[in-house]
Amino acid sequence: MSDGTPLQSPTKRITVRAGKLTVAATGCIPRGGGGGGGAVARELAGRGVHLADIHLIEAGEDPNELVVRFLFEGSDVDQAKNAIVDWALATGYARVWFRDELCDLTDALPPTGRVSVSCPTCSAHWAENDLEFWEAVREHGGFPTTCPACGGTLPQWTVHGSDSVGSSRARPDLEMPRSTVATMMSDRARPRGARPTVEGNG
Ligand SMILES: [Zn+2]
Repeated sequence: MSDGTPLQSPTKRITVRAGKLTVAATGCIPRGGGGGGGAVARELAGRGVHLADIHLIEAGEDPNELVVRFLFEGSDVDQAKNAIVDWALATGYARVWFRDELCDLTDALPPTGRVSVSCPTCSAHWAENDLEFWEAVREHGGFPTTCPACGGTLPQWTVHGSDSVGSSRARPDLEMPRSTVATMMSDRARPRGARPTVEGNG
């Protein structure tokens, strides 16, 4: 990809708030981050909330690349960039293009181990720690975004890694229905292509 390559319509909107990502399809989201010619995105950025559109690169030999365009880039956008790069590595992307920076993750080791998320709507606490789930995440290009219990939107999951397995938790873990995982495998958010090898975690 070069700067001269025209981008297709953004496929997802990423919201980064306090280091946490939420990914939503852009179909029902107005362009520009809620209107106001970017004023809303600027207002949110002033409060540490960053909005970005992501474009998937579908052509070429390395299709698993993301182009990230912040709707407004304030001086503190670096934390949001880091959160997006960490997420991209966990979910199987090889490169992340920002307006002024390319992060090549080709040789980076993607995380494995325990991941979890709490549903902000019904409070169900979902956790996973197996190879099948990680494969589905990297095939799909993202963690599950819908709570199987209430249907509400889930933020992207927190990666705890293998260190926290068996740690005490205030709420019992729930496991995603395997049918949800199977659906992720068949419903790709990104085009087919080489994806990072998933290391076994025992
Ligand atoms: Zn829920």
